[in-house]
Amino acid sequence: MALLGGIEAGGTKFICAVGTDPDNLQAQTRIETTTPDETLGQVVDFFRKQQKIEVIEAIGIGAFGPVGVNPGSEKFGWFLNTPKPGWQQVDFAGRMQRELGVKVGFDTDVNAAALAEHRWGNAQGLENFVYLTVGTGIGGGGMVAGKLIHGLLHPEMGHVLIPHDASADPFEGSCPFHKDCLEGLASGLAMEKRWGKKGIFLPPEHPAWALEAQYLAMGLMNYILTLSPQRIIMGGGVMAQKQLFPMVRAQVRERLNNYLDVPAIMRDIDSYIVPPGLGDKAGLAGAFALAEG
Ligand code: ZN
Repeated sequence: MALLGGIEAGGTKFICAVGTDPDNLQAQTRIETTTPDETLGQVVDFFRKQQKIEVIEAIGIGAFGPVGVNPGSEKFGWFLNTPKPGWQQVDFAGRMQRELGVKVGFDTDVNAAALAEHRWGNAQGLENFVYLTVGTGIGGGGMVAGKLIHGLLHPEMGHVLIPHDASADPFEGSCPFHKDCLEGLASGLAMEKRWGKKGIFLPPEHPAWALEAQYLAMGLMNYILTLSPQRIIMGGGVMAQKQLFPMVRAQVRERLNNYLDVPAIMRDIDSYIVPPGLGDKAGLAGAFALAEG
């Protein structure tokens, strides 16, 4: 059976794997995201080692953004002006293709996760949905009319602007491009900078979580009102704090204020805003789905 490769390229780590599908892996490794040369070099080494054992037919990549996702563009598969220091304007997919000699499928990490959730997880049967990850950064992808959202580039849902009451929350925001965009106020990095420790060390009753739920709900309200998703899937390290889900759902309902009279929001919001069905495997599974093309 032909083997596929998957790369979940994140801001802190790259997960690389080889197998027939995400449930049947022959090898997997974790590589720290340091410099492009070091990290991408280690990725190539991993796959070259695997290629000595068996043929790899294609590799799928889901990458943190912004990245070039339009196949016609000369920067297809590149990291563009990412906030990640040192990673701007780096050719990623092209380097994999040249050095490994395989076909490469490429999209954002969140579109990859959305694709996996559509195929195997909590978005099965849906044509319109959003996948949002809230981790070190915030990113969103999803489908409209059954297709992953692309266009000018790809969605950058983490960088939408939301109301920021500086008297209630004097933290100026951590986004190097926009300061207090959603990511600048509500990412894991923003939490750490505002409270002086990582979210994982803040107890569930800490006021950080009510503020976090408020900001995330503002972001979700923008997506609900513009994209009209049938479901919103929220993953990432921050969302692993399970107390957040009920708080975010309650805030979304309160802010929408009965405006959208649909059962999903009025009666069934517990199955409208949900964690990924594939848990933290959605990203890697999505990379495999992209390799299948
Ligand atoms: Zn921003």
